[in-house]
Amino acid sequence: MKDLIRQLLAELGENPAREGLIDTPKRVEKALRFLTSGYTADVDSVLNNALFTVDYNEMVIVKDIDFYSLCEHHLLPFFGKCHIAYIPRGKVIGLSKIPRLVEVFARRLQIQERMTNQIAETITAKIDPLGVAVVIEATHLCMAMRGVEKQNSFAITSAMLGGFRTDARTRMEFLELIRVPFPVAHRLPHGRDDRDPVSAG
Ligand SMILES: [Zn+2]
Repeated sequence: MKDLIRQLLAELGENPAREGLIDTPKRVEKALRFLTSGYTADVDSVLNNALFTVDYNEMVIVKDIDFYSLCEHHLLPFFGKCHIAYIPRGKVIGLSKIPRLVEVFARRLQIQERMTNQIAETITAKIDPLGVAVVIEATHLCMAMRGVEKQNSFAITSAMLGGFRTDARTRMEFLELIRVPFPVAHRLPHGRDDRDPVSAG
């Protein structure tokens, strides 16, 4: 990877041998390995010993989970907050494991919609709850930094499964607790690329 990064620096018009850049390939490789470490993370070992059988069937909410990810279209960061709720059906996930689960999917090349669904589907697969809700609010630097449609650099996505999908009151209770303004149009920055030749590719 270091050779590729040296090559990339040269392509950008830089001198990879100058003092400030001499260790950059090494640093970039290390950073990228960390930022994509979700590929090699194993969900089961992350949740290891943290699934508990309980007699509790009220909504569990973990809100304001900070995350940082990389958009797969531009390799630039998108970051923000993830809010998760579920209604247990005899099993819960240790609360401290939920942010770890978000990291598994954030530390990859991602799109916000897929990350939202992956988190919801994983919780469903692991504890078979009565319902799962995941809302992600994020700012996309690929839009904000390039000066393209700045007002659309912020996006909210949601995945509502089970009771959160079928029961509007359950859904509203969750949305009120996390204070996300809904109904939300799923305005995603990448959806606009087709119509905007400047940002295409
Ligand atoms: Zn992007």
